Amino acid sequence: MEYSIVIPVYNEEECLRELFARLDETLPVLDGEYEIIFVDDGSADRSPEMLREHAKANSHVRVIEFEENCGQSAAFDAGFKAARGEIVVTMDADLQNDPADIPKLLEKLDECDAVSGWRAKRQDPFLKRISTKIANWVRNRLSDEDVHDSASSLKVFKREALMKVRMFNGAHRFMPTLIKMEGCKVTEVPVTHHPRHAGEAKYGIGNRMFRAFYDLIGVRWMKKRRLKYRIKGES
Ligand code: UDP
Ligand code: MG
Repeated sequence: MEYSIVIPVYNEEECLRELFARLDETLPVLDGEYEIIFVDDGSADRSPEMLREHAKANSHVRVIEFEENCGQSAAFDAGFKAARGEIVVTMDADLQNDPADIPKLLEKLDECDAVSGWRAKRQDPFLKRISTKIANWVRNRLSDEDVHDSASSLKVFKREALMKVRMFNGAHRFMPTLIKMEGCKVTEVPVTHHPRHAGEAKYGIGNRMFRAFYDLIGVRWMKKRRLKYRIKGES
């Protein structure tokens, strides 16, 4: 298996039909076998049934269902562990990311271990755009980074590199840093970003800012205190 596309889903019934159609349209251009792993993060709407039905009709599709809502990072983690592909692709279920950008990210994977989509022209409400700009600035300052867009879901990883990362609740906002901390190389590539197609955004300023800041302190600490040594010789 070449590619595993991992997509967390939380109450996205209004987006799924269109998402299935877009994936069917765009993924066959990948030169290799692929699977799509949808991880239902405890949705209370019709998403789980829709995913199950889709999996029955489409042999590329697998579905993992959580008992309850555990967060986007947990959903990614379950998808990563289930992934059989050498390359893991992540994206959101709401089509704010465009699966047509995947080949562009894959092109760069020859030169590094992960490629992160940078939503250069972000299509979100003004307050969200501003708060994300500030969040990226603070994140870069405190974690000594220069990542334009850390939390964008559209990313591609060599599975080998991804498996080195220890995920935690909130880790999805720090993937470039977490991967680099494992000695891997990450590149950013500008990608298209669409307004949310349907359904509701799961994060606002209130449920993001404090949590993300708390996590940032943890990442800063982990990065500073990570073990750095080279063995000169053994006898
Ligand atoms: N999501 C999830 N669990 C959550 C919150 C979100 O699996 O607790 C999924 C959601 O269904 C979507 C992705 O994570 O596929 C990103 O969420 P959203 O689009 O609401 O985030 P935003 O684009 O507003 O940052
Ligand atoms: Mg979104």
